[in-house]
Amino acid sequence: MATDASHPIPRLIRTVDELRAVVASERQLGNRIGLVPTMGALHEGHLSLAKISNQECNTTIVTIFINPQQFAPHEDLDKYPRTIERDLDLLAKLHVPFVFAPTEDQIYPPGFSTFVDPPSVALPMEGESRPHHFRGVATVVLKLFHLVPADAAYFGQKDYQQSLVIRRMVEDLGFPITIRICPIIRERDGLAMSSRNRYLSPEERGQALAISRALDTGRLLVEAGERDVDRLRNTLRSVLGHAGISQIDYVQVVHPETLDELDQIGDAAIALIAAHVGKTRLIDNCLFK
Ligand code: AMP
Repeated sequence: MATDASHPIPRLIRTVDELRAVVASERQLGNRIGLVPTMGALHEGHLSLAKISNQECNTTIVTIFINPQQFAPHEDLDKYPRTIERDLDLLAKLHVPFVFAPTEDQIYPPGFSTFVDPPSVALPMEGESRPHHFRGVATVVLKLFHLVPADAAYFGQKDYQQSLVIRRMVEDLGFPITIRICPIIRERDGLAMSSRNRYLSPEERGQALAISRALDTGRLLVEAGERDVDRLRNTLRSVLGHAGISQIDYVQVVHPETLDELDQIGDAAIALIAAHVGKTRLIDNCLFK
């Protein structure tokens, strides 16, 4: 663990009371506050959000909370990786001053029963595959926004639909915060970084690469003039199929703002994939401009 003065470890905040005191004193100092919500098991994707927050704000608060409300009973809540010491170490290297890692009762006090009904962009794709997921996400994110009245919050394009849900929620409810959507960080070979990649066996890791390869193939086809969405979707599916990925939740090419299905690619479109590799569910996407 980093203890030297050049990399002081971030202050670890466990309670809402302590968090409120920190936020109040940062506000009094006139500091612009950046918020980076995560579930921990940090990788370069998460760290890129903290770096951008550091550049744009005077102080950054990274939250680490594995939100049970966004996991279905059959999903990986229990085995989701928990690596807080390592996470603090990584954030120390970025000079992140504060980490809010609350216990569950701090976020969901006994008797908690108020939820956000997410906007309609939550309905397709992830909404069909994981029916209560975005209700859990929207609820915890709105709660974090209330606890940390930050100036800006940083999210990854990796979870594209989630970023739209949050942008829409903030707009609909008039919440005074800037939502920044940051680029997808990938491994050298193209696999989108994810805390869940560590579940993959070496063989599955090879198979998983077909997801970014399929999206790349789609992008090249669009750049070469392909406009037919059916043909594009079929091509993406066949790249996955050739790699032996058969359990596909969706392969979609939709409008990037509304998520409406398209017949033809117009000015902008986004391709999104969710597929299972072994027991691991992976998502990725690529904007076509
Ligand atoms: P998670 O811990 O999976 O809830 O992710 C926390 C934040 O990190 C979300 O806004 C994600 O979109 C973002 N994120 C996850 N993976 C990546 C990545 N590979 N590149 C950029 N952002 C990411």
